Amino acid sequence: MDTTIANVLIIGSGPAGYTAAIYAARAGLHPILYQGYQPGGQLTITTDVENYPGYPEGVQGPQMMVDFQEQAQRFGTTVHAANVTAVNLSAYPYEAVIDDQHTIRTKSIIIATGAAAKWLGLPSEERLNGKGVSACATCDGFFFRGQDVAVVGGGDSAAEEASHLSNICRKVYMLVRRDKLRASAIMQQRVRNKPNIEILWNTEVEEVLGIETVTGARVINNQTKQIKEIPLQGFFVAIGHQPNTALFASYLDLTPQGYIQTIPGTTQTNIPGVFAAGDVQDSVYRQAVTAAGTGCMAALDAERFLATQDS
Ligand code: NDP
Repeated sequence: MDTTIANVLIIGSGPAGYTAAIYAARAGLHPILYQGYQPGGQLTITTDVENYPGYPEGVQGPQMMVDFQEQAQRFGTTVHAANVTAVNLSAYPYEAVIDDQHTIRTKSIIIATGAAAKWLGLPSEERLNGKGVSACATCDGFFFRGQDVAVVGGGDSAAEEASHLSNICRKVYMLVRRDKLRASAIMQQRVRNKPNIEILWNTEVEEVLGIETVTGARVINNQTKQIKEIPLQGFFVAIGHQPNTALFASYLDLTPQGYIQTIPGTTQTNIPGVFAAGDVQDSVYRQAVTAAGTGCMAALDAERFLATQDS
C-alpha cells in the first residue's frame, strides 16, 4: 500500500472530473485523477461540440478533452491512465485499489465516472456511430436541420429528443417497440402535438443503413412481421443511460434510477468527504457544461470538507 494520503482522489476524466481537478489543483490540494477505461469520457465518441460556451467555432470532442486534461495538469493535477477497480469507503482515510494491483489512501473522493448511453447492439449502429448515429439529440440534432431522422425508444428521453428534433428537422420518426410509450403523460402529449413526429408502433430496428453516413433504417413490425426501409439522415438512440456506479453501489445511496444520490444543491453523497459530479449523479441534464459545473462544485465542496478535517 502507498503510505502517502492524497487530499483528493478524482475518479473519471470527463468534463466533471477535469473541472474538479482544475479547481482542486488551483486550491493547492494536489489532486490525483484516474482516467478510467475511457479517458476523456463520452465526449471522445462525439465529433463537433458546438454548444460548449467559449468555442464560437465549435470544437472536436476529443480535442476538447485533451484541452481539459492539459488545463488540469498545468495547475498540478497528477493524471494516471489507470482504473480504480475497487474502493473501501467504510474506514477513513478511504482506500482505492488501482488496476487490481495496489491501494492508495485518500481524505476525499470526487466520483465523476459518468454514464454510458445504452445502445441497441447492432453492428451497423456501431459502425455508423458519429456518422449519423448518435445518442444525444441536444448535441447532434443541429447537424440534421431540415432532414429526416429517427429516434429509437418510448421513454421520457426519447420523447424529449423527438420533441427537440422536431423543431430542427423536417420529419422525426419515433421507433417504439411496444404499442405504448413509457414516457410521462405530459411528454406523450408534447410528442403527439407535433405534426412532424410520426410514431411507428411495435417497431424494431434490424439494421441502420448506410456506407459512409446514415441513409436509412430497416425496421420490422414485430406484430405483422412486415419489413420496411425508411430513408433517414440521422438515427438517434434514446433507450436509456447506465450510470457507472458499480464500484460504489454497496456504500452510497442511489436514486431509484440508479444514479448517485447527492444532497440537493451540493455534490455531497451520504458519506462525508465523498462527492459525486457529472452524469453519474444527473439523469436529467447530462451536458458537458452541466457536468463541468458540478465538477467545480465538487472541488469546492471537497475543499471545505478538508478544511474542517484539518482544523
Ligand atoms: P426509460 O428506461 O424510461 O425508457 C427507455 C425506453 O427505451 C422505453 O420506451 C423502452 O421500451 C425503450 N427501450 C429500451 N431498450 C430498448 C431496446 N433494446 N430496443 C428498443 N427500445 C428499447 O429511459 P429514459 O432515458 O427515457 O428515462 C430514464 C429516466 O429519466 C426516467 O425515469 C425518465 O422519467 C427520466 N427522464 C426525465 C426527463 C424529464 O423529466 N424531462 C427527461 C429524460 C429522462 P419499453 O417501454 O418497451 O421498455
